[in-house]
This record gives sequence, structure tokens and C-alpha cells, in this order.
Amino acid sequence: MSSSLDALLQQKLSELQSKNLLKTPRSSFGLVDFGSNDYFSLRKRPEILEAAAKALEHGSGGVASRLAGGESPLYAKLESAVACAKKRESACVFGSGYLANIGVIQALTGKGDLVLADRLSHACLIDGAKLSGAKLLRFTHNSVKNLAALLEKHREKHRHCLVITETVFSMDGDKAPVAELAALARRHDAWLLADDAHGLFMDEGSGADILTGTLSKSLASYGGYVAGSKALADYLKTAARSLVFSTALPPASLAAAAKALEIIAALPEIRLKPLENAGFFASLLGLPAPESAILPIILKDEKKTLLASKTLAENGFFVPAIRPPTVPPHTSRLRISFQSGNKREDLERLAELCYSLIS
Ligand SMILES: *Cc1c(COP(=O)(O)O)cnc(C)c1O
Repeated sequence: MSSSLDALLQQKLSELQSKNLLKTPRSSFGLVDFGSNDYFSLRKRPEILEAAAKALEHGSGGVASRLAGGESPLYAKLESAVACAKKRESACVFGSGYLANIGVIQALTGKGDLVLADRLSHACLIDGAKLSGAKLLRFTHNSVKNLAALLEKHREKHRHCLVITETVFSMDGDKAPVAELAALARRHDAWLLADDAHGLFMDEGSGADILTGTLSKSLASYGGYVAGSKALADYLKTAARSLVFSTALPPASLAAAAKALEIIAALPEIRLKPLENAGFFASLLGLPAPESAILPIILKDEKKTLLASKTLAENGFFVPAIRPPTVPPHTSRLRISFQSGNKREDLERLAELCYSLIS
């Protein structure tokens, strides 16, 4: 048997453990949720559960790639709903947000091209750039100036150029200057991709050529998408390897996401609530109002952050401890996320607990 493999892995696991960087799957079951990405509190909404249950009539699984018989009529309905919600001509749905990002970047860029990514871009954006074979450079977080300098210096030596950012950064909750980045990219004949996984359907990615996102967060389902022109969506269906060579989504996931989009369209006020709740919580702690539904409390030290998360769990609250490499070294943090359905008394109690943790 492969004893050298297990010996190596045991050693790696012990090393991670000793640095407080070992990660294990965690459940928020039974706790008040201030950690998931179900921003509109939709995951147990009866209309969505009913739509998903009804879709089970089509079967439990996706059974084949979309191009090889796995295409369900639910895709067309969902893709036009995504395009409409994101104010784009068209959309292409993938198996997950991760697959959407690696798929679109690899389909649009390759050897001889340049990818310029915000330094805090999500791991799957970086993985997509690496997979593509293009030259990857990172620009200073949210710095239009640094991006301009990199474009000046490197753009001309490359055929195509893709600039990558997130509309709302997943671990910091701040927003990118998307309109400015888009204008700058256009001046250099570069394309802008903005990952809108944490957007709240308030036109966060306006101006980007390519908008990507997930069905798994605020839409409380599973899957991902790319939204943009019709040519883009059509091309991805034939050229994105993570779509071509991966099985279609289960019908229930497609139906649940489509129903979630319907609810958001019918109840626009649901989109304001996470921000209101985040603002109320921040005011209780004397912090500035967050730009999104995400508020990090940076404790820097891994052990301290793990302990803080554990203390909150003991008091009934789920708030994850986020550690490197998800965030840069020495910036470990509690990542608090807010939802439409947060209860006022929970916000007050959590603020009290956080106050004692940070002071
Ligand atoms: C979660 C996330 C993804 C991946 O989406 P999944 O559907 O969970 O695979 C991509 N980008 C960002 C910014 C994310 O936060």
C-alpha cells in the first residue's frame, strides 16, 4: 500500500494543525446563521421548495452534459431570467460558480493573452487564469491607478487582455469601482469580467463586459452563470470546457433558482434588507455602514479568530473564522454576513457578543 502517501499527508495535516490552519467541514445546524450567503433568506421559502419538488418529476439528476442530451427545458427559462435580472442580452448557466469562472476565462483567453486580476480575486478566478495559459498579473486591490500602470506597461505585448474583479469582495464586503475599471479597460481594448457572486441584484456589475455569478448564494440553489452578449453565451456553450465536459444540473436546482429569481423580481424590497441589517449591526458597534451584506471583523491571529468563532457558536451564533489562504496572511477574521430575515434581537445579541470579543 502507499504508505509514503499517507505519511506525507499526515505530516502536512500536523503542520497545518500546529499553525491553526487546518480546515474541516463545518455545519451551522442549530445555530442562528450569520455566516452563509443566503442573503435573501430564501433557502426554506415554500414556493421555492415546491418548485424544486415539482421539478423532481423530471428526475433526480442531470444525467449527461448539456451538449450530450442533458439539456432540460428549464435551462432556457432560467437563462432568460438570469439575463433579465442582470440586465444583459443573454446568459449561460454552468454547474457552479467555480465552473462558470474557470470556464469563461479559459474559453476567452490563452497563450499570448494577458489576464490582469485584482489581488483579492476569488480563488476560482485565479485558477481560471492559470488554466487558460495566459500571462497572469495581479493589480493592487481596487486600484484603478495600478491597473492603468499595468495596462500601459504590458497590454501592447499581448493579443487579448482580460481584466478581472469582483463586484463585491467576498471576504471584505467592499465594492469594486466597476464603472471606472470598465472605462479604463475599454481605452486599452481590454475586456472586463466582474464576478457578482455577492451582489444583491442592485446593478453592481453595471459596465462590465462579462458578469459571472452563482445560483448557490443569494438564489439559495446550486449552479453558476455567465451573463453578457448573446455571442458570449452561445460561444461558451460550445467552447467552455467546464460546461462541455461536465454534467448538467439536476432539474430541482434549475427550478429552485428560477423561482428565487421570480421572487426577487416580485419583491424588490427584499434586496434592501441585508444592507439595512448590516447597517444596523454596524451602528451598534460604532462601525461605518458596510457597502454590502458582508462585514469582516479582522482579528489577525488565527487562534484568536478560531476561538472567537467558537465562543459565538457556544452562544448560539454561526459566524465562520476565515483564515489564510482564503485571506492574506495575518488578516484572519470573523466574516459576518447579513440576511433579509435577520431578527432584530439576534442582531443586538450578536453585536453585544462581538463587542466583548473585540474590546
Ligand atoms: C462562492 C464564490 C464563487 C463560487 O461559486 P460556487 O457556486 O459556490 O461554486 C465564485 N466567486 C466568488 C466571488 C464566490 O464568492
